[in-house]
Amino acid sequence: MGISVSFFGATKTVTGSLFLLNIRGTKLLVDCGMFQGHDHERNYEKFPFDPGEVSYLLLTHAHIDHCGRIPLLVKEGFKGEIICTKPTAQIAKIMLLDAAKVMKEHYKTLYKKAVRKGKELPPPPIYETYDVIKSFYFFKVLVYYDTPILLKNDIRVTFRNAGHILGSAFIEIEDLKTGIRLTFSGDLGNTDKPIIKPYELPEKGDFVFMETTYGNRNHKSFEESKEEFLQAILETFERGGNVLIPSFALERAQEILYILREFYEEGKLPRCHVFLDSPLAIKATQIFKDNPEFYDEETLEVFTHEDPFDFPYLQLTEDVEESKAINNFRSNAIIIAGNGMVSGGRILHHLKNNLWREECSLIFVGFQAKGTIGRAIVNGAKKVHIFGEEIPVRAKVYTINGFSSHAGQNELFDWLKNFKQVKKLFLIHGEPESMEDFATLVKKELSHKVKDIIIPDYGDEVELK
Ligand SMILES: [Zn+2]
Ligand SMILES: [Zn+2]
Repeated sequence: MGISVSFFGATKTVTGSLFLLNIRGTKLLVDCGMFQGHDHERNYEKFPFDPGEVSYLLLTHAHIDHCGRIPLLVKEGFKGEIICTKPTAQIAKIMLLDAAKVMKEHYKTLYKKAVRKGKELPPPPIYETYDVIKSFYFFKVLVYYDTPILLKNDIRVTFRNAGHILGSAFIEIEDLKTGIRLTFSGDLGNTDKPIIKPYELPEKGDFVFMETTYGNRNHKSFEESKEEFLQAILETFERGGNVLIPSFALERAQEILYILREFYEEGKLPRCHVFLDSPLAIKATQIFKDNPEFYDEETLEVFTHEDPFDFPYLQLTEDVEESKAINNFRSNAIIIAGNGMVSGGRILHHLKNNLWREECSLIFVGFQAKGTIGRAIVNGAKKVHIFGEEIPVRAKVYTINGFSSHAGQNELFDWLKNFKQVKKLFLIHGEPESMEDFATLVKKELSHKVKDIIIPDYGDEVELK
């Protein structure tokens, strides 16, 4: 018996990462992510394999498009071991609890609407809080970077730092019987960014499975973006308004706090009120504080004498009453709230109160998917609907591009070129245009190392030999 891989997610798209390996009869999964956006319906399909037969789930990191279907996997019979780093386990747990809550609220809204309009009822959420908590039991093995562990049937796996978010890894899997090595990149990080260490370089891998989120472009430099961010804040305060920052709770929110603390210490940030108005982001920040061994040198240096994510102007507003009280601030406030794409969460309340005021500003620090209010505003919408009300967009809109957590094209290429010889390169986790561009680049520059490039489709199964 040989080795095969089946592609059940993140094929020609960026969400739903899930890859099934069969190594001489032992079944392993790499990631078990949720589909988001236009592929969302896929979450309701049955897994195309028996979860009860899977021995291990190797989890690259805690983003919901990589871990979001774990409770469903357990609900459908998975009894194996989930293997990941300590921060990945900690963050995945709060992300999954939040996902269950968001799905439940979304379901309630759709249900009421269907009843009101006499339409067909929506399907219930794929799992609930109860299922999430049951799945925690299976987070059994916590690994450190660069520390190989031996699984049954002579399979060895090593997690290495992917530099993407706290605890993120790329994974090397070695079949000790045949000597064949597989490398799954997970999501690779933007090496320019603060807090966590930049990605490690791979060496050996016969079969490489590589993300291509930004396979066709590079980001603006981080330093430049930081300066733009500061200018946007200063301009807004001069106009006498508030700054709204829709942010993802994980990583981006902590980076914003880290940068604002730096501005404060350098004397660049005028006296103001900074609100982190997101219970999930507050929890995630605590996990960052609990894992200093994952920091880069600079952050570690800060950590030895102070909290890298705190400064005197910062207030954490966990409960709803505190959050509502932020409305009393008409100027000189920076409000960081979720969700990052303005498709829900507390940011909507703040937009309702500030978006129509021309002295205010809205700063986008992350990707805005098609179909979200965030994307509409970035594209220049003059008005948006929030809680059934039409709100004119008069605030100034800024888009900061360099804060991405993903490697740009150059960084993806730099990572790949470190392999000595690659028999087959599989491009995953990217839009088709991005994959094509990256494939062209690899064919041109690395054809002496990379023998074959494959862009798999959903459901493809490939023998690896
Ligand atoms: Zn990710
Ligand atoms: Zn991802």
